[in-house]
Amino acid sequence: MIESSPSLWKVAVDAPLPQLLTYSSELALSAGQLVEVPLGKRSTRGLIVRKEDIASDKFKIKSVLSLLEEYPQLTKGQLDWALWVAQYYHYPPGEVFSLFFPQLAKKGRSPADKSLFSDTLSDKQVALNTEQQKIVNDVAGFSGFSSHLLWGVTGSGKTEVYIELIKKQLEQGRSAMVLVPEIALTPQLISRFRQRLGENIAVLHSNLTDRERTNQWWSVIEKKNRVLIGVRSALFCPVPDLGLIVVDEEHEGSYKQDEKLRYNARDSAVMRALYEKIPVILGTATPSAESWKNVLDKKYQLHELKQRASKLQIPRMEIIDLQANKDDAHRDPLLPYWLSTPLYEALAENYKTGFQSALFLNRRGIAQTVLCNDCGFIYKCPNCEISLTLHGKNHLVCHYCDYSQAMAYKCPDCHVGTIKPIGLGTEQIQNDVQKLFPQANIMRVDRDEIDSRQRMEDFVAKMESQEVQILVGTQMIAKGLDFEKLTLVGVVLADIGFHIPDFRASERSFQLLTQVSGRSGRHHPGAVFVQTYRPDHPSLIHAQNQDVAGFLNAALEERKELSYPPYFRMACLKISGLDEKEVRGQAQALSFKLKNYAATLDPEVKVLGPAPAPLFKLRQRYRFQVLLKSASLQSLDKTLQYVSHLSADEFKKLRIQIDMDPYNLM
Ligand code: ADP
Ligand code: ZN
Repeated sequence: MIESSPSLWKVAVDAPLPQLLTYSSELALSAGQLVEVPLGKRSTRGLIVRKEDIASDKFKIKSVLSLLEEYPQLTKGQLDWALWVAQYYHYPPGEVFSLFFPQLAKKGRSPADKSLFSDTLSDKQVALNTEQQKIVNDVAGFSGFSSHLLWGVTGSGKTEVYIELIKKQLEQGRSAMVLVPEIALTPQLISRFRQRLGENIAVLHSNLTDRERTNQWWSVIEKKNRVLIGVRSALFCPVPDLGLIVVDEEHEGSYKQDEKLRYNARDSAVMRALYEKIPVILGTATPSAESWKNVLDKKYQLHELKQRASKLQIPRMEIIDLQANKDDAHRDPLLPYWLSTPLYEALAENYKTGFQSALFLNRRGIAQTVLCNDCGFIYKCPNCEISLTLHGKNHLVCHYCDYSQAMAYKCPDCHVGTIKPIGLGTEQIQNDVQKLFPQANIMRVDRDEIDSRQRMEDFVAKMESQEVQILVGTQMIAKGLDFEKLTLVGVVLADIGFHIPDFRASERSFQLLTQVSGRSGRHHPGAVFVQTYRPDHPSLIHAQNQDVAGFLNAALEERKELSYPPYFRMACLKISGLDEKEVRGQAQALSFKLKNYAATLDPEVKVLGPAPAPLFKLRQRYRFQVLLKSASLQSLDKTLQYVSHLSADEFKKLRIQIDMDPYNLM
């Protein structure tokens, strides 16, 4: 190392500090390097952000302790992107940088983790069809940054397009990154990439040990593996010579992290591509409203795959009206209340003929949802058009604007039924179905049952060997899976999705219905049955007609009318504390301050709440939220800076977390 006269550096230290700190050093340092620096009485890692000419800090300047030479130096693109992440999501820059590096030290690592892959390599090749080839050529025709939305029905061959584009990158000596939602990172997907791209694949997901993750990370950094497949956090891997980012299933809410750094990996991937001057491809069968708007605004290039590669039709969707079915005089009284005659008959037929079936129940609504057991009526907020959430025994609250009303037990709509919390779960369904088919091998797939990679692999193996005839599952079975003999999908109660108290509820229902239908009949003609009290719900009708564009255009229209994203930018302030009364009072005071700020300084900003969060009490803390909306990102950003200031000063006692572009408003 060449020693020179000391110079000053701005360093992002790995600590919850919003600002960069100044250090001096006699080492020949440069921006992007990882160093060890003193902080208070301890030492911590930090990233060199830039050179500083004159000291501006009031404090005595300390020296950099050492340069952590074994770690790669971040490129300018990576560094600038990380600073963007910190600024956009209002998060300490040093803590963003710490996500770039693995938890464990390099030493002690074995060269390869063969055990991560349970498959054997074969060299199956697929020749692209004309539609696919055209997309590959189109995308490859761009140089520098470009963003693409690849919209293709389930099974249309999007993955083959990704693989071909990645191959092109590899031929040029570059690397590629593929992001997938946690749920979709199945052994099936990884083994497919390996079969087509060979050994040089690294994976990063939450089911790895720290050691495995560290080893995978180094294999990418040292260019032993040039294709990184991973879940959202893999986006922070400083892949050298990155030439392409693919975000599969771009509409998935799981790209948004719900704690600490509340980033959206899809949006951040687009920004990373911008800073690294490379193409990014977002793939999906059901684009998010945000991405669709970006297509309409010509920010994303749209590419379509309209048919399944196998040329098999997407199965027809049969909508079953549960209310009518309940009143059906010919109904077999031995059937469980949640199962309609047509779905039962289809199940029985499939079982008899040796095909596999899947029953799907979306239990995502953690908050208590109530509905009329006769007509399916639900309560909605008159201001916000989202479902009201049950608090206590009979208090219904809108957790956007704090509107509230008492719950009547008699249904106010049909005047016949009773309003009840939804009590149905996958376990009960499994038990009921087992009674109907005592000989059948039934498997349940939900978070309780499938809690490890091993169990996921066992499940896939049992389906592939056809040891299992009937599957009962949550959204874990809705995506990414491909089973030859699976020809019947039954959605037990689509309504649960319609009730999630969130402005994206109908978008999510539409996506889920489309995805889950896509599991059926991939190799043999199949069928899909959807049970509901709301056979006229737009999510359902559009899903049945496979009218994705129609659904999205209507959804955007509604978002515009109600001032929701993507027309309005939104941020959620998550406020919590240990004393209910105190938190409530402080949250009100904070909201009052913000409303005042908006009224006097920025009328573009709208402040809603505080309202109790749907999960009002969590881990001993009482939770409230304040929603901020503005048509302009700049004005929202400024308001959030004001929030940060208040949070560090007047409202020190409260825990205030900023959630920019919130997804999960639970
Ligand atoms: P998607 O990612 O859109 O769901 P996939 O890429 O998984 O679609 O393709 C679905 C199925 O069709 C896979 O089994 C794949 O091997 C097959 N497939 C895709 N493209 C072709 C092609 N051009 N020729 C033959 N089979 C193809
Ligand atoms: Zn409301």
